[in-house]
Amino acid sequence: MAVQAAKEALKSWRLLSEDERATYMRKIADRMTERADEIALAECLDCGKPLALAKRMDIARAIDNFNYFAAVVKTQHSESHQTGQAALNYSYRSPVGVCGLITPWNLPLYLLTWKVAPALALGNTIVAKPSELTPHTAILLAEVCTEVGLPKGVFNLVHGTGPVVGNAMVAHPDVPLISFTGGTATGAMVGATAAPYFKKVSLELGGKSATVVFDDCDFDRAVGETVRSSFTNAGQVCLCGSRVFVQESIYEKFVQAFVEKVTNELKPGDPEKSNFGALISSGHRQKIEYYVDIAKKEGGRILCGGKRPNLDAPFDMGYFYEPTIIDGLSVNSRCSQEEIFGPVVVVHPFKDEKEVMEYINGTKYGLAGSLWTNDLNRAHRMPAAWETGMVWVNCWLLRDLRVPFGGVKHSGVGREGGNHAIDFWTEVKNVCIKL
Ligand code: NAD
Repeated sequence: MAVQAAKEALKSWRLLSEDERATYMRKIADRMTERADEIALAECLDCGKPLALAKRMDIARAIDNFNYFAAVVKTQHSESHQTGQAALNYSYRSPVGVCGLITPWNLPLYLLTWKVAPALALGNTIVAKPSELTPHTAILLAEVCTEVGLPKGVFNLVHGTGPVVGNAMVAHPDVPLISFTGGTATGAMVGATAAPYFKKVSLELGGKSATVVFDDCDFDRAVGETVRSSFTNAGQVCLCGSRVFVQESIYEKFVQAFVEKVTNELKPGDPEKSNFGALISSGHRQKIEYYVDIAKKEGGRILCGGKRPNLDAPFDMGYFYEPTIIDGLSVNSRCSQEEIFGPVVVVHPFKDEKEVMEYINGTKYGLAGSLWTNDLNRAHRMPAAWETGMVWVNCWLLRDLRVPFGGVKHSGVGREGGNHAIDFWTEVKNVCIKL
């Protein structure tokens, strides 16, 4: 039914001018801004993430997504090629059609709007399926779309589990595009289901990103940002650096400062007040505990965390876990190779650039990474050789919506963001006119 409604609405939505669609996008952003506190609280309650983080990151960036793609749709242009005196070619873009959007629980509204905004701005209609664990803010977004008068059927929301509702959408013959963000194993299933239909597919998948710290870095900034890159949203951000490599000349000093800062500054507790929230579910916490047990068996030293915090009621019932730093493991250990997606970070020493390049590329994932060095040549050389979709140098998660976003290897297929979003969310055809 949702796909049918989206197909029907597509007939008129795709014919609107860029101006008209951009106006809707801005109206959505404005209404979300008016309701920002309420939406942030819903995200906080659904995920257990700190309210302050939901406001600062999730909701602020969700609003940015609509404003940004409102601007993009008005400034995009097409190519033209003149073939001597014989012909004029130009590229003609059209929307792909009804788009299926499937999103995870860690940044529910932020990641959903990262897909909804470009899809709608570029003339598609959508059917969105948020994670069954975090449906609330998607419902609020649907309300906002109704409030601003978005035509019926342009934005459709379906709820349910992945294998039933998500899979039905991926296998639907009238949905020619699937934009999926989630785990690597699920992404493989989505890719396989979509393949016989020759759909356009974007897969944003899991990661095991590295943070690399050289002894020539700005030490204090590197420590502070490594706390952030390791433990933002309790480590439940696909771009978090869960493997930290530190040059051996500063290893002891760095690890001591890192552990101290994490222990002193990150305090699990009431998500409405604290800076360190809960995990998404009991099952996810069990997964974290399983990996920490493995680390202990493989000879790892727990430098901090490694257990549930002692919290007063009612937060003793929450799925909290202390930020955890482990060292003494091999770079090939399971905790250093497999995605844990929680507040667990493994630290390793390294001797030089050659050695650390082997370590960071020695994983099946390739989503992001951050590099801390003041050596200008190294700051260019290493990102070029890094098998990953994104590298931040002397920073982390400094986002610009114009840049390509996506991973390589088992971290995904395709790019979204900036001009890549235009390529993904439209079909381009060449028109050749004989002169
Ligand atoms: P998940 O793969 O379990 O679920 C993601 C979504 O897919 C959910 O909506 C789920 O219902 C749906 N789904 C599950 N099975 C499906 C199926 N067979 N067919 C269609 N849809 C199906 O992932 P999760 O646990 O919700 O999220 C965590 C994962 O997401 C982590 O691996 C994390 O790294 C990844 N992630 C990646 C990015 C990125 O941009 N690369 C961003 C955020 C999260």
